[in-house]
Amino acid sequence: MADPNAKPKYTKLFINNEFVDSVSGKTFATFNPATGKEIIKVSEGDKADVDLAVIAAKKAFHRNSEWRQLSPLQRTALMNKLCGLMTRDKDLLASLETQDNGKPYAEALFDVTYSMLTLQYYAGWTDKFFGDTIPAGGFTSMTRKEPVGVVGQIIPWNYPLLMLAWKWGPALATGCTIIMKPAEQTPLTALHMAALAKEAGFPAGVINVINGFGPTAGAAISEHPDIAKVAFTGSVDIGRIVMEAAAKSNLKRVSLELGGKSPVVAFDDADIDFAVDTTHEALFSNHGQSCCAGSRTYVHEKIYDQFVAKAAAKAKERKVGNPFEANVQQGPQIDQEMLTKVLGYIESGQKEGAKLQAGGKRIGNVGFFVEPTVFSDVKDDMRIAQEEIFGPVQSIFKFSSLEEMIDRANNVQYGLAAGVITNDINKALKFANSVDAGSVWINCYDAVLPSTPFGGYKHSGIGRELGKDGLDNYLETKTITMKLL
Ligand code: ADP
Repeated sequence: MADPNAKPKYTKLFINNEFVDSVSGKTFATFNPATGKEIIKVSEGDKADVDLAVIAAKKAFHRNSEWRQLSPLQRTALMNKLCGLMTRDKDLLASLETQDNGKPYAEALFDVTYSMLTLQYYAGWTDKFFGDTIPAGGFTSMTRKEPVGVVGQIIPWNYPLLMLAWKWGPALATGCTIIMKPAEQTPLTALHMAALAKEAGFPAGVINVINGFGPTAGAAISEHPDIAKVAFTGSVDIGRIVMEAAAKSNLKRVSLELGGKSPVVAFDDADIDFAVDTTHEALFSNHGQSCCAGSRTYVHEKIYDQFVAKAAAKAKERKVGNPFEANVQQGPQIDQEMLTKVLGYIESGQKEGAKLQAGGKRIGNVGFFVEPTVFSDVKDDMRIAQEEIFGPVQSIFKFSSLEEMIDRANNVQYGLAAGVITNDINKALKFANSVDAGSVWINCYDAVLPSTPFGGYKHSGIGRELGKDGLDNYLETKTITMKLL
């Protein structure tokens, strides 16, 4: 059952299987974006705490440690035990997520399930990442896939639990040890997960969670000389900082999952209502706060006017409000900063000549709610066409030919995802093969499965998460060569 007043049980840093105060003793508040009110204060970690967590994680990764001595199937069992505990606590996890992040409770519950499925999926991989044997003249070579070591994981606030699962899954399956920093806006579910990991029986030091801010705790992770790899999800600007810090410190391995400006294309042969619904969900789901949000809707000129009218009507119907209320589809944006940013983009769209067809304003003055907003007549060079808004603002463009549209679709710095809605397989596949995007969805959107790799071209990132490819971020390849005497 949804519980808007569920009290977080854990607020401290989680180091070496214990909840501890930060070295500085500092705390910071986490807020409910639907009310703007403080939920609770959590410990604020910094470099000194990251150092302690790394000492614990290094010890847990030592070749003779309990964790390193576990068989792959024992790791599988621990991961599955954790999933069982998530099922037991799913209502609490979802309630904490909705309080902290503002997403509708039903979506928070979905995130819990999907996070669990991701961990279960990776639990099956512990004994399946094989090397090769390579014959080479008088030598015989083999490769071993080995865990990279202590890994830092820095995640954002838009899918707090899901991003944790995407990162813990492959790290635990491969046998790494973890220092995770949740986003400062949304630390609560990560802390609960830390407690569940301990209850499941993960040895001390395997999983550590350091709440804190980016320039302090986050930077301490990306700069740390004893962290072998950093996995980051967030903005392009911070991605650059993380990569630079990794390069300057110890050349730690880096995987980045950054922003997007993903095109979704509706052809005139498609069922128009299906196309309107699919493009609507592609953008508005999670309040537009999704790195793969379909934030550029390209519509064929033959159906353009009709499509715009239907898209505007649909946006006006979208129910915005208290995320704990049933049937609410959109809660608040995450904080004042994002509210201001989104409203700024709406203003810039109007100034640059796009036509406002729906929404456009803040709702009320409590919490950070924005009307579902639709612009038509958007031109490729407008700011709302090029920059990531990360809010409930749909931009609709007109196109006339496949070739022209592909060039335009690729004319942004990002390359995370793309969608196409058509009954013509030739158009669909030509688009899919030509668009700069790590994921392309045909007649669907956001169909991200634990087994399907996800990540970006161009400024959208480096590396892939999920699926078999997601393991690569956490593995080194060792070649062992024998000379036959
Ligand atoms: P968003 O725009 O989604 O908030 P950010 O890139 O600002 O994305 O933040 C994503 C994560 O990166 C958060 O956990 C944040 O605390 C962290 N972060 C922010 N600044 C830095 C930094 N300088 N070094 C490392 N991590 C950072």
